Amino acid sequence: MIKNMDIWEQTFQQLIRKKKPHHRWILEVDRNLELNRSGHGWRQYRHLGFARFQCSLCGRSWISAQVMILFWMRLQEPYGEVKMRLFAQRCQKCETALFEEPRFSEEGIQAVLGSLVMRILLRCYRENVPQERDLGATCEDPLREAFSNGSHDRENCEACLLGVFCPRQSNSRDSKPQPVASSAWWCSCPALTRASNDSTQVQQSPFKKRRLILIISLGVAIIIPLIVVMVVLGVTGVL
Ligand SMILES: [Zn+2]
Ligand SMILES: [Zn+2]
Repeated sequence: MIKNMDIWEQTFQQLIRKKKPHHRWILEVDRNLELNRSGHGWRQYRHLGFARFQCSLCGRSWISAQVMILFWMRLQEPYGEVKMRLFAQRCQKCETALFEEPRFSEEGIQAVLGSLVMRILLRCYRENVPQERDLGATCEDPLREAFSNGSHDRENCEACLLGVFCPRQSNSRDSKPQPVASSAWWCSCPALTRASNDSTQVQQSPFKKRRLILIISLGVAIIIPLIVVMVVLGVTGVL
């Protein structure tokens, strides 16, 4: 089950009903969705989002500005259908780490789905698309900018391991998505596009603190007996 799935559904309905009140759209999760396998009127769109992950083994959490989301969308008037896959990431520290689902903020969900609705208008309805902000989407998650300069851990990104998704130059702001996809599939919001080329995993590991405490304890355990021995030797006149 996707975290916050009810918020994903409610937000999508609010955004699409504003634009297409007489059509009935549904959003559903499909964990097996693949790039370039669609047909029968399906269109594809992929988006880089900003989300938090937490390791279910060690509890460590991290934030990534490069969380891949793949959508398939199809209109058969008056019905529309969207399938969505959120790509997982796994902990860098645990050898047997599981892939964890991303957790998006409500602002992040608004941003992703605002871009999706824009793509639906553009590609399913062939409409001239307004600015993304006009769709009611928050273009930029307030925290995203702060995490847009780090490197992307490709070894632990499900999308990267599948080999077709994330940009090649993980640290370069000027890097381009891989040529397998047309640039039109990427969010056109300048802030999101800029950030989509970078990502940051910020580790908030409790192990660092524990290691520091261990080093200090060891230091104290060695130094105190040494001082005692030196004092004793000094008193007894050996030194
Ligand atoms: Zn872990
Ligand atoms: Zn990746």
